[in-house]
Amino acid sequence: MKELEECLEALLAEVKPIEKTEYVALTDSCDRILGEDIVAQMMIPPYPKSAMDGYALRAEDTLGADREHPVTLQVVGELFAGDCAEIPCRGGCAVRVMTGSYVPEGYDAVIRQEDTDYGEKQVQIYRSVTAGTNYCCVGEDIREGEQILARGIHLRALHMGLLASLGIHKVPVCERIKSSILSTGSELMAPGTPLLPGKIYNSIAYMLRASMERQGIQVPFTEICGDDKEILKKQLKKALDVADIVITTGGVSVGKKDLLPEVLEELGAKKIFSHANIQPGTPTIGSVLDGKAILSLSGNPYAAYANFEYYFWELAAYLTQDASLKVRRTYAVLSDPYPKVNKLRRFVRAYAEEGRVTLPTAVHASSVLSNMRDCNCFIDIEPGRELHPGDEVKIQYFK
Ligand code: AMP
Ligand code: MG
Repeated sequence: MKELEECLEALLAEVKPIEKTEYVALTDSCDRILGEDIVAQMMIPPYPKSAMDGYALRAEDTLGADREHPVTLQVVGELFAGDCAEIPCRGGCAVRVMTGSYVPEGYDAVIRQEDTDYGEKQVQIYRSVTAGTNYCCVGEDIREGEQILARGIHLRALHMGLLASLGIHKVPVCERIKSSILSTGSELMAPGTPLLPGKIYNSIAYMLRASMERQGIQVPFTEICGDDKEILKKQLKKALDVADIVITTGGVSVGKKDLLPEVLEELGAKKIFSHANIQPGTPTIGSVLDGKAILSLSGNPYAAYANFEYYFWELAAYLTQDASLKVRRTYAVLSDPYPKVNKLRRFVRAYAEEGRVTLPTAVHASSVLSNMRDCNCFIDIEPGRELHPGDEVKIQYFK
């Protein structure tokens, strides 16, 4: 039996990252992956700027000034934020400026208005300043030609400000991946239609879809398909045509109507693994067709979900080169007894918080969905391990 890690690695080796870039509006780019390095095409600030409400002046004119011996300067102009004008700088003059105002050429410092008498025609300066005081020079924040963001980063709200400050309104981002969901099983019906005898509602597709869409993965195909080989083949091809990954559920076991293994083989898919060392979901199949991964999960809701969580996010993270899609694995202390000792590695649904992990109820059948209500992770238990309350266990959080 193969270990899950080997199976995953073998699957990743068969696919390639999707390196296509598209341009989206700045306002749509948050939470996307930056597709190209961003190099500043301008200086920030683009003009010499006052950092205070006060007076632009020449530092040398303030030499020796203090409250007892103020220096008097002529106020030769006034510039508010948004204004831009040159005001020639003769010796002994000052320009009234506000925070963010343009500082005309020749003036090399700004004195805070609190250190003056607020004069309008003439101003008394109560302290000396050095060149550069309260004066932001061109390019002080960002220099033209400087790389400010690197390809591959996950764009966050803070980055929006940085891009906007450079006037960038179209942002190159990596194309998102698409994933199809093909729910197989002649018993399945979609919620919204009256349930017929012998049928059940398709629940798994809704968990998977919501989970993927929350992470920005598009789901262009979600169809139910009965257990019919020819129709399954057709639907699987359609699912493959519109997506980068295909998830199928149901039909991977050994029943007479578990047709997925044959369907995959007849379509020419390359089987990468099945029957890995894991319970539930031992029959999960990983295969590749047309360079795209197909993950065929069991139809039992928990088995499907746990295996999806194990494989899908690593696959998605690899295809998009977006590490934020990876799952969180850590350790926690088990609070409850778990009496079973398993021959295979086991994923047991659980709830983890602040380093402790609890089990939902005594029922752990992989067909049971109701006790997943309050779960946020699974415990990853090695084969043959006996567990007791207080033991440290490995957990993987659900995405
Ligand atoms: P299978 O993997 O096809 O043998 O199905 C295993 C069990 O899961 C059966 O009881 C199915 O009825 C059930 N099942 C299969 N697909 C789904 C689904 N999409 N949603 C909920 N239950 C399902
Ligand atoms: Mg079935």
